[in-house]
Amino acid sequence: MAETTARPKNFLGVPVAKPKVAFIELSSCEGCQLQIVNNEATLLDFLSLVQVVNFREAMTEKSDDYDIAFVEGSVTRKDEAEKLRTVRNNARVLVALGSCACFGGVNQLKNRFDLDWVKREVYGNSFIDTDKAQPLEDFVHVDLRIYGCPIKKEEVEKIVTNLVIGREVHHPRYPVCMECKANENICLYDLGEPCLGPITRAGCDSWCPNNRAGCWGCRGPADDANMVQMRKIMTEQGFSDETLIDRLECFGGFKACVDNIRKGQLK
Ligand code: SF4
Ligand code: SF4
Ligand code: SF4
Repeated sequence: MAETTARPKNFLGVPVAKPKVAFIELSSCEGCQLQIVNNEATLLDFLSLVQVVNFREAMTEKSDDYDIAFVEGSVTRKDEAEKLRTVRNNARVLVALGSCACFGGVNQLKNRFDLDWVKREVYGNSFIDTDKAQPLEDFVHVDLRIYGCPIKKEEVEKIVTNLVIGREVHHPRYPVCMECKANENICLYDLGEPCLGPITRAGCDSWCPNNRAGCWGCRGPADDANMVQMRKIMTEQGFSDETLIDRLECFGGFKACVDNIRKGQLK
């Protein structure tokens, strides 16, 4: 008979039996939350693991009594920073859900522009003042990150299951190329397309290359990502630094690398 391991009473301070969970959004497209709701095939199994007490996109009831908070979106306004601090105080475990929450995501693309004239052009004098888009960790401690734009629902379920039953959560340390090779895709470089698969953290099952689209790095850097070799590959394949930077900048996960390229420090 297989040996059963005693389940810990709690993990990261959260009781393992049906923790109360909340899904909260800041500045986001709500696409990550939609992934959870859309997961019809396994939604009931998922819901049997947790007690959802706050999920504006899916229910009207709302409670601030929760163990785990999944926070989607980046912080772009002062009231969002306050909201995030309140969530942090309420939750025992705070999970950054998706690239916006982990890195600033596509929202952080606005940080390099002065958008004052755009706001006035579109909204006149009635625009809402916003600051630059920032990831959650710039304001509060983040316990776990779930990468992706959008998140991959199968991966979320695996992570949440591990969290609930008290197993440690491990992200793949290797890059998307590993999954892409296992899926027997033709490499996008052989089709004349750029791809950040060699440096991006796996876990999406090479979602984009499976569909003949190059990776844009939405899950951020893999452990020990070799940026120098990535740049070399792009150059050898005839792609400019601007093409590389365009991709690296898209979701905010490679900010340090982009800064190094711009400063001439990535050789
Ligand atoms: S990570 Fe992507 S899908 Fe998720 S909220 Fe941000 S923009 Fe939307
Ligand atoms: S298509 Fe992208 S992810 Fe797949 S092997 Fe080529 S570089 Fe790697
Ligand atoms: S292939 Fe790249 S861009 Fe596409 S989902 Fe995976 S990590 Fe994100």
